[in-house]
Amino acid sequence: MPFDINSFHLGGRRALITGSGKGIGLELARGLGAAGASVVINDRNRQKAQRVTDQLREEGIHAEFAVFDVTDRAQLQQAINDFEADIGPIDILVNNAGIQRRAPLEDYDANDWHDLMRVNLDGVFHVSQAVARHMIARRRGKIINICSVQSQLGRPTIAPYAASKGAVKMLTKGMCADWARYGIQANGLAPGYFETEMNRPLVDNQQFSEWLCKRTPAGRWGRVEELCGTAVFLASAASDFINGQTLFVDGGLTSVV
Ligand code: NAP
Repeated sequence: MPFDINSFHLGGRRALITGSGKGIGLELARGLGAAGASVVINDRNRQKAQRVTDQLREEGIHAEFAVFDVTDRAQLQQAINDFEADIGPIDILVNNAGIQRRAPLEDYDANDWHDLMRVNLDGVFHVSQAVARHMIARRRGKIINICSVQSQLGRPTIAPYAASKGAVKMLTKGMCADWARYGIQANGLAPGYFETEMNRPLVDNQQFSEWLCKRTPAGRWGRVEELCGTAVFLASAASDFINGQTLFVDGGLTSVV
């Protein structure tokens, strides 16, 4: 069959994006919605989820919401199973919810370590398993795990974050190993440095910002909408033979020393 440009289109597909009340998750919801997908906003707060969903609908995107905390296995399983039963299938899952806690490793608080791992790594496992069980039954699905340049590179004060994102990159390969046979493609999307609330301390730090712009071949911070093309690609039939890979959208940062 010849290549069909419409294979990038997401019409008739529904995408759940975890932690999509703001930041990268919200922008990815916009991007997937613009490509024709119906999007499912996830937030821990019902009012916020409803508000963001209403906002997207005003922008012309078909949107619904699911309220759960990615660290609460019982709650998220119930929410996902209810959603599948009452509203319809989740064809695309974007594991985006994530947190950052910074401190020198020798002083790093053990509770912060556990909190970070529970969101950034355990959350990806719990949500993916709950959604994949439905995808496996349908023999079709797309999973996009939001990784980071820290899936590959260390940096002072964020060793636990790097450990969690390195693990998500490997979990992505594991999903490919176990689920490719069911028609599921799981890939990582690894952003470089983007201006969001998570990076507010870095954006506000002029010295860091100057260093980053020199260190990045593109010479600047990323704009969140620049992640959408890769997300649409990985969510679409155009990437059906790509599995277990992590694509870096980082202005070249991980390509140079
Ligand atoms: P952000 O603005 O802080 O947004 C994070 C989102 O995750 C928020 O909506 C947050 O909800 C949600 N969240 C946190 N814990 C959650 C939980 N337990 N259950 C459900 N949702 C939860 O961060 P961001 O910059 O957009 O980052 C999004 C993802 O991209 C993260 O995985 C991050 O590690 C990754 N990333 C970001 C960058 C960057 O440059 N910004 C670079 C590489 C990777 P609340 O509003 O309730 O806290």
